Amino acid sequence: MTSTGTPPTFEHSFADLPERFYQALTPTPVAAPTPIRVNRALAEYLGLDADWLASEAGTAWLAGNTITPGSRPLAAAYAGHQFGSFNPQLGDGRAILLGELQGTDGRRMDLQLKGAGRTSWSRGGDGRSPLGPVLREYIVSEAMAALGVPSTRALAAVSTGEPVYRERSLPGAVLARVAASHIRIGSFEFFAARKDREALEILVRYTLERHYPELADAANPGLALLESAIRAQASLVSRWQLLGFIHGVMNTDNMLLSGETIDYGPCAFMDAFNPDTVFSSIDHGGRYAYRNQPGIAHWNLACLAQALVPVLHEDSEQAVALAQGAVDTYGDQFLEAHTAGLKAKLGLKLVEDRPEDAALIEDLYSLMASEATDFTLTFRRLADLASPDTAGDQDCGELYPLPQSFDPWLARWRDRLAAEPVDSQERQEGMYRANPVFIPRNHLVEAAIAAATDEGDFAPFHALVDRLADPWTWSSEDRSFALPPGPEQQVYQTFCGT
Ligand code: AMP
Ligand code: MG
Repeated sequence: MTSTGTPPTFEHSFADLPERFYQALTPTPVAAPTPIRVNRALAEYLGLDADWLASEAGTAWLAGNTITPGSRPLAAAYAGHQFGSFNPQLGDGRAILLGELQGTDGRRMDLQLKGAGRTSWSRGGDGRSPLGPVLREYIVSEAMAALGVPSTRALAAVSTGEPVYRERSLPGAVLARVAASHIRIGSFEFFAARKDREALEILVRYTLERHYPELADAANPGLALLESAIRAQASLVSRWQLLGFIHGVMNTDNMLLSGETIDYGPCAFMDAFNPDTVFSSIDHGGRYAYRNQPGIAHWNLACLAQALVPVLHEDSEQAVALAQGAVDTYGDQFLEAHTAGLKAKLGLKLVEDRPEDAALIEDLYSLMASEATDFTLTFRRLADLASPDTAGDQDCGELYPLPQSFDPWLARWRDRLAAEPVDSQERQEGMYRANPVFIPRNHLVEAAIAAATDEGDFAPFHALVDRLADPWTWSSEDRSFALPPGPEQQVYQTFCGT
């Protein structure tokens, strides 16, 4: 624990990289920082004193108004493909890395303030963040972590006491974000675009040591890193698909080499199943629709491979062949991860593949699409039905009965389950762990943001964060958190809020 009254001491492995990797600068102070929420469990994990973080001194520190003496805050350089077009110069335009802290498990974690003021990468932006996107990121990133999906985390949110001007004047806020690192595909693209092979080599070594230390001595470090990133993304995006999570802005600057989900701008979970669902207000072509996410990750990994070509082999043809070979493994890796996850959701986890399984799964998805059933609650309902006698407290049937048109499919599924030598209660418990009942419903996220922004009422925000800390355990008192939106509650668009 940090002793009360002193800000934590950071490590600075990223700041030790060459100067062209970042701009050294401090956050721009804000007028009147006030606390919104401190994540006590995460503070404890990082060895921070949550009471101090919530104090006046801690709040000023979380807003960037005071800086740990001797620390070396910075804004990192990166490039990126945004909606398919390359931008060689993005970088942290409104986020400042304070430094690194060690988790209780010894992992090195970045602590970054998002909305901390202008940097040399801000272009026309004000370096600030409105309250809404800060709350959205807090709610959804913490929900993702509770759902077991690798994600950046929210350590705290504070209000700045300053307005931010977008389409209208909005209250400003700062999010203290924790991540295994903030190294993006775009970080490599930045140096590749400048033909800075030395920097690429340094970044490869740094990233390997930080995220894949068991490969630090690999004969071909660039290839080892590329393969690891491909494996991590295939697994990550399969998790998104299995939960109905739509990221919304899968640009290459928003994909981390660590395999954590980052950038909760226009993200949302799907309610009624429709594979074409898009939420982002700026995604006119549906590039980042639910159904496109696995393919976009593939495309982004090809950008990473392209950026790494100069360090894969001295002979450029061989380098390209190595890059291509690695990227070509993505499809099978995604499919394997996704199929394993689907089987867990359907209670088929413990047995061998059968030829009819693919059709069983496809037919369920067709049925969900044609009936527009709720993605989350359809799967949750299957868990109840897997062992109706023992479903007990977990049974949410009265909450969400499946339409009768599901009956023939349910009969096929039950036959399939019956062919397995698995204890039905054990299977059901597994299904309850694979099929959450509480997800961050977009209409509730929007309502929490509206209450805080328009009325200064943070109660719905806190209630949502508290409820989503346990997504698996049904409680009938909390039905309003589990239900899909009614017709008048539907939210069709989300905004980046930049
Ligand atoms: P994002 O859409 O959050 O991934 O941001 C894309 C790029 O725009 C990044 O380089 C951000 O740092 C930058 N950016 C977003 N919002 C702002 C802002 N309000 N002020 C300055 N830069 C911003
Ligand atoms: Mg971003």
